[in-house]
Amino acid sequence: MQKEFRVGIGYDSHPLVSGRKLILGGIPIPHDKGLSGWSDADVAIHAVIDALCGAADLGDIGTQFPPEEPEYKNISSLVLLTKTSKLVKAKGFKIVNIDVTIMAQRPKLSPFILEMRQHISQALGISPAQVTVKATTTNGLGFIGREEGIATQSVALIEAV
Ligand SMILES: [Zn+2]
Repeated sequence: MQKEFRVGIGYDSHPLVSGRKLILGGIPIPHDKGLSGWSDADVAIHAVIDALCGAADLGDIGTQFPPEEPEYKNISSLVLLTKTSKLVKAKGFKIVNIDVTIMAQRPKLSPFILEMRQHISQALGISPAQVTVKATTTNGLGFIGREEGIATQSVALIEAV
């Protein structure tokens, strides 16, 4: 029997504001601004959740975890990620791999990539080798270049078990 593979894509962006902690890929990053949002606004995890929702036909992050719900206020997005992985498993799939690109002008994220991979993979119950994270700037262009916000893209590949 042929194996069934499905792929999903995710995108997210949040505004950078003063007075919030910057949480990216499940870890706090030292910076003078943080991302605003209802949860911890972890834009990297949100893109991964959307990629998994797309791959497994689970709608999107907003249908699974509606914003404005008191139970999700300031919640760690890693908790939502673990919930998503359980939904994917319940649909009869396992995760093959996840890839994430974080688009931020500042701060420099390369020192934190390994730790992000560890936290994301742990929340998903898979190996860090199955989760790749990359960071890029937009060379000063657009809202990202003006440091008004951070955007992310992710793809997820899943396989029927
Ligand atoms: Zn988001």
